[in-house]
Amino acid sequence: MNNTVSGTPAPHSQPSDGIGSEDYANHLESLYQSLHRHPELSFHEEQTSQRIAYEMRTAGFDVTEGVGVYGVVGVLKNGDGPTVMIRTDMDALPIHEKTGLAYASETDGVMHACGHDAHMTTVIGTARQLARQRDQWQGTLVVIGQPAEEIVSGAQAMLDDGLYQRFPRPDAVLGLHVEPSGTLPAGTVGYCSGFLTANSSSVDVTVKGVGGHGSAPEKTIDPVVLAAELVVKLQTIVSREVSALEPAVITVGSIHGGTKHNIICDQVKLELSVRCYADETRDFLYRRIQEVAEGVARTARVSDDLLPVVEIRNGVPALYNDPSFTDRVVAHWHSKFGSQFAQPVSKVMGGEDFALYGRQSPDIPIMFFLLGSVTEEQLQQAKRQGKDMPYVHSPHYKPAPEPTIKTGVAAMTEAALCAFQSTH
Ligand SMILES: [Zn+2]
Ligand SMILES: [Zn+2]
Repeated sequence: MNNTVSGTPAPHSQPSDGIGSEDYANHLESLYQSLHRHPELSFHEEQTSQRIAYEMRTAGFDVTEGVGVYGVVGVLKNGDGPTVMIRTDMDALPIHEKTGLAYASETDGVMHACGHDAHMTTVIGTARQLARQRDQWQGTLVVIGQPAEEIVSGAQAMLDDGLYQRFPRPDAVLGLHVEPSGTLPAGTVGYCSGFLTANSSSVDVTVKGVGGHGSAPEKTIDPVVLAAELVVKLQTIVSREVSALEPAVITVGSIHGGTKHNIICDQVKLELSVRCYADETRDFLYRRIQEVAEGVARTARVSDDLLPVVEIRNGVPALYNDPSFTDRVVAHWHSKFGSQFAQPVSKVMGGEDFALYGRQSPDIPIMFFLLGSVTEEQLQQAKRQGKDMPYVHSPHYKPAPEPTIKTGVAAMTEAALCAFQSTH
C-alpha cells in the first residue's frame, strides 16, 4: 500500500511501554527478524503461513491452513459475544534488499519491503495478548494471515474459499499498515474516517490498425498514431469530465507497439492505472475509456472488427473505514494512551485489498489504521544526509522494530477490546 500522511506530527511518545513489552523481548523480536529473513512472494507464502499457523496454535487458536491458497484462519472462542476479525497480510516483494541489516533477507531478490513482516508480528503479538486477557472480552476472535496483498488477490481468494461461510462471520474487522515516511512517528498510529485508499485497477487497451510499409501510410491504419491520440485524449476525461471535487487518476503507465523504423505495425498495447474513490466515478471512468478509445479509432476509419479492446484487470475497491466504528476506536485509544497517540491522516490514491472484507455486506464495519514505523533518530539522520526516508517498496526501507511493533500490538489489542465491547 502507498500512504501519504497529513497533519501536524505529534511529539515522539511511547504509550505502548505498558502492553506487551515483555512479550516483545521474549518472543516477538525474534519472530520479526525470522520473518524478515525469510520473505516469500505473493501466493508463494508456504513457509510464512506455516509459521503464522504455528504461532496461532501456540497461542491457543483453532487453526485452518490453505484457505485461499496459503491463507491461515485462527479462531479463539471465548463465550457469547460478537465476532471480531483481525487481518495481517503475509507476502513480500521482488526486490533485492539493500538495508544492510543483520537480519536482512536471505532469499536473493525477495524482500519484506512493505512491512508485512511487521504486520504479521503485530497481529501475532495481539493474538497472544488477547489470548492472555480472556477475562477482558467475550465473543469470538478470528485472526487471519492473508496471502498475496501485493497483487491485490489474496483477500478475494480467501473470501472465495469460504472465509465468511466456513468460519465465524465477523461483526467487525481490523487491519493495519506501516507508515514509512516518518510524518507519523514510530510510537503513534494514524486513522482516517471514511475513505482511506482508492478504487484502483489496471486496464489494458489494445489499439488495432492495419499494418504495412512505412513509406506508404495511406495504405495502412497506423495504430501508433491512434495510440498517441488516445493517450492525449484520455487526459481529458479526468480534467474535463469529472468534478474537480472528486479525486480521480488515469495514468498511462506503458505503451508498446511496432518493431522497426519502416514498418507500420498492426497493434499497440497501452497499460493504464485507474484510480478514484466513489464506485460511480469508477464505472464512469471505465465507460469513458471504452468510448474514447472507440471514438478515436472510428475517426481513423477503423472497421468494427478492429475496434480497440479494453480489459479491466486486478481491480480493488476503495477502502471505506466505517466512521462510527473508527470514532469509537479512536476515542478508546485516546482514553488509554492520551490524545497524541492517534492522529488523523489523509486518504491516499493507493489500493489495499483489505477493503474487500467490508464489501461483502454493508453490516460489517471495517477499520484499517496506519502504524508509525520511523523514529525521530532515523528522521534526523536522514535530514543530516539531505535525504527523504525510504518509502515502502524501496530496497532501503527499514522500519524500527522498536517501538513500532509494541505500539502496533497495543493499538490493535485495544482496538479489538473496543470492538468486543461496542459491537452488537
Ligand atoms: Zn506494498
Ligand atoms: Zn503493504
